[in-house]
This record gives sequence, C-alpha cells and structure tokens, in this order.
Amino acid sequence: MKKLVLIILIILIPISYLLYKKFRQCRNNYNLLIITLDTTRFDYLGYSNHKWIQTPYIDSLARRGIVFTNAFSVSNQTAPAHYSLFSGVTPVVHGIRTNINKPYEEFKLPTLAEILKKSGNYQTIAYFQGPFTLKDPYKILNGFLFKNQPPSYLKQMPEFKRFSVQDTLLTTSAIEAMGRNKNHNWFLWLHYWIPHAPYFADETEKSKYAEYYPSRDWWDYIRFMGIKQEEYLDKEYLIVRPPYLTIDGSDKGEIGFSDENKRNLQNLYAMQIPSMDSQLGRLFDYLKKNKLFEKTIIVIVADHGEELMDRTSRYGHGRNLYDTSLHIPLIIIDPRFKGKSRKIDNLVRIIDIFPTVLDLLKIEDPIKEAREGISLVPLINGTGAGPLSLKAIFKKENLAYRDAQWKYIWNSEGSKKHELYDIRKDPFEKKDLSMDNKELVDKLNKILIEWNKKGYSQVITDKEHLKKLKSLGYIN
Ligand SMILES: [Zn+2]
Repeated sequence: MKKLVLIILIILIPISYLLYKKFRQCRNNYNLLIITLDTTRFDYLGYSNHKWIQTPYIDSLARRGIVFTNAFSVSNQTAPAHYSLFSGVTPVVHGIRTNINKPYEEFKLPTLAEILKKSGNYQTIAYFQGPFTLKDPYKILNGFLFKNQPPSYLKQMPEFKRFSVQDTLLTTSAIEAMGRNKNHNWFLWLHYWIPHAPYFADETEKSKYAEYYPSRDWWDYIRFMGIKQEEYLDKEYLIVRPPYLTIDGSDKGEIGFSDENKRNLQNLYAMQIPSMDSQLGRLFDYLKKNKLFEKTIIVIVADHGEELMDRTSRYGHGRNLYDTSLHIPLIIIDPRFKGKSRKIDNLVRIIDIFPTVLDLLKIEDPIKEAREGISLVPLINGTGAGPLSLKAIFKKENLAYRDAQWKYIWNSEGSKKHELYDIRKDPFEKKDLSMDNKELVDKLNKILIEWNKKGYSQVITDKEHLKKLKSLGYIN
C-alpha cells in the first residue's frame, strides 16, 4: 500500500509542477505599470509634434509601444475619469459624474486592482499624492494592498509648490516599491500631478525654454487682474483660485486676456510637461537598469486634457466637453510588441484600457458583460476595428457623443443646447453645424438620452451577475 502511495506521489509531483508551470506561463506573469498624467493634453507632447516642448522620456516609451493618436476620456474631471479607467465603465454607470459625487451605493463591479489582487498573482500598489478627489470615498483604491500616505508637511504647502515636490517623492517611492517587490509580480499605479493648474515652471524649465517663458508668472497674472494674492489662496486646501472666480467660487464672467497673455499662459502650462517628463525619466531609467521593460506591461494615459483659453478667457478643466478637455495621450507597451511599435489613429476610449490590460495579462474578468469598454488587443493585432464612437458626460446635463467624423455636444440646461461639429474638417470645433443637420442632431441626441438612462441598475439587473460576484467573493 505504502509503495503504491509512493509511486502515485512520484508521478503526481512532477505532473503538478508541470501543470503549475504551464498555468504560470498561461498567465504570462507580466507586471503592470499604469501611469496617469493629470491634465495632460495630447498635443502638448514631443511625440505629438508640439512646436517646442521636448519630452524625450515619454517619446522613448512611445517608440517601444503602441501610440493611440485618437484616445479620449469619458469625463473632464479627475475622479470620474480615474474611476472609469479602473472599472471599464462610464460615469453614467459608476455614478461619479464630477469630483464631488460618490459612486452609486449599489455599484459593486470589481475594479482592476481587485481582480489582479484576487488572481493571487499580484502585489497591488497605488502611489498618488493628489488632493481629496482620489481618496477613499470613491472606492477608487479598492483592491490596492498598499496605498501611500502623503507626508503631512505636503498638506501645509500651497499646491503650486506641492505638485512638483510630491511628484518627485512619488517617483522615489515607486522605485523603492519596485525594489521591494522584486520577487513578486506587481501592479503599480502612479498618478502625476505637475501639469495641473496653477502653472509654475521650475528653474530648469525656465532656463531651458527661456525664449518662451512669459514675462508674467502666475502671481503676476493674478495681480494683473487687480486681485490680492491672499484672496486667491483657499485656506483649507491651499489651492489657488483662477482669477475669474470670486472667493465663493462663482464665475465673474469674461475677464479679457490679450492674445499675448493667452499665449503666455499656454506657455506656462506647456513648461510643466517636461518637468513631469524628467520624473518619468528617473522611473524609466530604473526599469531599464533592472531589465523590467522585458517583464512589464506599461500604460501611460492622461485622465483628461485642459482648456487653455482656446475659446474664452477660461483655463482649466471640468467646464465643457470640447476635445481640448477630452483628447488624451495613450501609450501601451508590452514586451511582446518589440519591433512592432506603431501609431494607431482609430478612436479609442479610457474605458477600453481595463479590458485591454486584462486581455494582455490573460486574466479573466469575472463580469465582462457588464463593462462598457472593449479590449483593444484585436485592434492592435490588426484583427478588429476597436470602438467606433465615444460618449462623455459632465454633471447631469452636459453630454457629448463623438465618432471619427462627428462631435455632438448636448447641454440640456445651457442657453445653447445643441452643438455639432464635423471633426474631420473642423478639428478645433469652431463651426457649429447643428442648425443645418437637425436629423443627425436628433439621432445623436436620442443615443445620448438612452445612454444616460442606463445607469448602474440597468447594467447589473441580472441576479446571475450578483450571484456570480458573491460566489467569487467580490460582494457579501
Ligand atoms: Zn485630473
């Protein structure tokens, strides 16, 4: 009998080992690094041919991977966009339509970090040092085993100083985390803030781009408007308020910037980008030295863009749904893409990143049918077209539809309710064609109404979904 058990064991052990090895190979064991760049416009990068901005490190990654030249966010604010990135659904489904909303109470779809954590194969680590918009109430950090705590002295710093200091710390922490987790697979999410307003160029950028450095800096702009500096520093959050807002946050209306001053402000914004790029350079040097490029799938993406007085004297985001706020950089690098890097011009969305990385990692999404995003792997492999259109939302009343030709914006409570642009001929959305194309406007309006009605409950009405999530331990 003992002999029989021994023989069975001798046979079973190597078979189990081979099966385990096969299973590991099947999951392919890549690390996942997702880098979100706050407030970064697609057209303000070296690889997207900005006139003078240089971003050698981001460009070097672009040369290693797939560059999506028509990637769009589904929101113009930080919290909704990040939640869509990590859940694969739009704000109408998760419920966070602005930075101050919470997700729907019943929203239970597992996040990317939850799925990777549950796979048993990943250390899930989040490093972000941003303001209140990305903290726990949003459940955005569900599934991350390790979340950093920003040092308390950062909170005492006004944000124009804080962003650069915190992003330097963030890079250092990320490098340390990769060092600590050499023997594990990891999923690391890093969120960089430098390009966010207020725009302050550091000394390196000031001297490197002296030719473009405006004669007025941010405080000069505020004084220029006849406003006292102290009035514009929110005491609680130490946030600088834009000069067109009163102290209680209401809008003063048009404030009139000259073309030269608009250009100056755009240049100040532009100078933040190389500063962030040099932080990414530190990170990429580490990946290179430690041969991590061979083992890591990397996604570089922005949460939303930035309006830079393109239309009015307004800058910032969270205001409208023009492409300046939605068109974002997106690069996906996979060691298997070596020698196959290229640009893809098809329209893609921030919600497609979630299913794409799971597809690349060969990890099953337990509730795939509830996601709105689709995997971009067929598009990358040349066997699929990817998504054909995108829908974005801000607050309850501001919605947008976009495909390769048309952009329709519906502001149900605004004085101008419908706007329609032929993006192919008019990429800067200047000539509103809504009055001449009423049939198309009606059709697109219906699409947006239907989508907006959808909500979470309509995605997860099926009791089978809930049963499945319960059986997998995602909900109690
Ligand atoms: Zn943001």
